[in-house]
Amino acid sequence: MYIPEEKIAQILNTSDIVDIISQNVILKKSGSNFFGLCPFHSEKTPSFSVNINKQIYYCFGCGAGGNVLNFLKRYHGITFPEAAKMLARKHNITIETKEIDPAKRKQLKLKESLFRLNKTTMEYYYSQLKNSNSGKIAARYLKQRKISDDIINEFHLGFSHDSWDSVVKEFKKLKVSEGVAAQSGLVLERKQNNGYYDRFRNRIMFPIFDINMQVAGFGGRVMDDAMPKYMNSPETLVYSKSRILYGLHAAKQFCRQEDFVYIVEGYFDFLSLYQHGIKNCVASLGTALTHEHIRILKGYASKMILVFDSDAAGISAAKRSIKIFMREGVDIKILVLPEKSDPDSYVVEHGQKAFNALALKAKTIMQFLLQVSIDTHGSSVEGRIKILNDMKPYLITIQDTALRSLYIKELAETLNIDENAVLEKVREQYLHTQESISKPYLFDGTKDEVRLDSDRREEQMISMVLNFPEIIDKINKTGVLEYFYSKKLKFIGKKIIGIDSDKKAFITNVMATMENSEDQQLIASLSMDDSFMDQDIQQTALSLINRIIRVRKKEENTLTSKIISAEKGCDSELMELLKEKQAEIQQLQ
Ligand SMILES: [Zn+2]
Repeated sequence: MYIPEEKIAQILNTSDIVDIISQNVILKKSGSNFFGLCPFHSEKTPSFSVNINKQIYYCFGCGAGGNVLNFLKRYHGITFPEAAKMLARKHNITIETKEIDPAKRKQLKLKESLFRLNKTTMEYYYSQLKNSNSGKIAARYLKQRKISDDIINEFHLGFSHDSWDSVVKEFKKLKVSEGVAAQSGLVLERKQNNGYYDRFRNRIMFPIFDINMQVAGFGGRVMDDAMPKYMNSPETLVYSKSRILYGLHAAKQFCRQEDFVYIVEGYFDFLSLYQHGIKNCVASLGTALTHEHIRILKGYASKMILVFDSDAAGISAAKRSIKIFMREGVDIKILVLPEKSDPDSYVVEHGQKAFNALALKAKTIMQFLLQVSIDTHGSSVEGRIKILNDMKPYLITIQDTALRSLYIKELAETLNIDENAVLEKVREQYLHTQESISKPYLFDGTKDEVRLDSDRREEQMISMVLNFPEIIDKINKTGVLEYFYSKKLKFIGKKIIGIDSDKKAFITNVMATMENSEDQQLIASLSMDDSFMDQDIQQTALSLINRIIRVRKKEENTLTSKIISAEKGCDSELMELLKEKQAEIQQLQ
């Protein structure tokens, strides 16, 4: 369903965010904000704030933020239209759906068709498992893997025939259009361009549900040693690997209850844990965990335990995921299972209690990394120096200084090295990193993130315009947004200055035009910055604008002179890089 923008505005204007949130969170007034314990992360002192004038919430602890609709969506695990309907009902506002532009409608229709087709196909695979002759082999396989009928039914497991055209025939029977069939990823076009063939053949089928219980895609596993062992649907209009976690649709309520979630890798790991009563669990399906995955999970649980096999592949997968978790500031622990077991086999063999007991021994990130490093380098003098070098980059990413010094102490003790020496090494690493942060034109793969950190001015600019929309004119006239490093802030800035809105409800209206919750969160966080409240705002704005433009231009000059000296030094590689950089900057102006 599509809800017209005016309706959303009406709903937002009628609701009071303090009124709504206080039904779920105990709020106390303090200054111009209300404070309470954050429902999205666990804490003992309130850092969750609600601002009645700006009609937004923001958590200084975990960064959750947005307007009232975003709160309801996140708190109840519902969709945006559902949240809107919920509020509309409360205020007796009737929502009639509206005509939308043809392109958008076409896409919505296609999405609906894909969801419908996926559901039909899920039922087909399911019935083949239950009723067909060859399905019996698959049923036997599942039994052998100790998967119960209840689980087969709840998660709608199925079976795809060892045939090139079972699904193709099924689609023909149902008169599915070729366009929809091709976009579903369930069938593939033949090379000679004469029709289609089934993607999934002779596999156990796992439908993958999105958070709204719609079938977004499928995974298929062979029942013998054939390769590839697992196969998933390709990315489609309704299936995005970086956003979907297997099992979350069923696990979400349990994750909330327990306030923590196990993250495992495979279908069978998930299903076995769930079957054994460990229902606060999701599976990443072998794809690397993304920031989006983690942000989604943060809405359901504040603590997470990554569960990995003890083999080399498991360890390196765990190491890859760690940095993402650290950057997202999540309270994560790592559970490496005893040798030769995976979550599935472990829980089947030892049961729920043993698994939970084992989970209590999960390691913190530092403990885990240290163990891996010790296992790799040994404890000779050289080994210990190598271990220290391994740990340095991780230590400096810890924001909490108290926690960091604890780890440094622990590391010093474990390695039997003087604590001050460890500290000195970490400081060196820190300075080294700071240097590259303060020179954004150095070449760094993560330049956007680095710039986002380093360039507070751009954030300040956006904070200012959110709180004082009367400076929009100045922003327009100077074109300062064009000088922004951060693509994200530039994009948001442009959106903001393009909004035709009543200045009084400006933040509310800006928030309503932000499509994804990540943007809403950013807006909420920037709106909370009141630091320039008491200044002459036009004057402050102007000097900020000038500073942003000056810094950018100066960098361009620095680059030019660097290119000249690189040319003189015949460093052609450096020159190339510098020129690329220069082109990028010039393009912006
Ligand atoms: Zn929070």
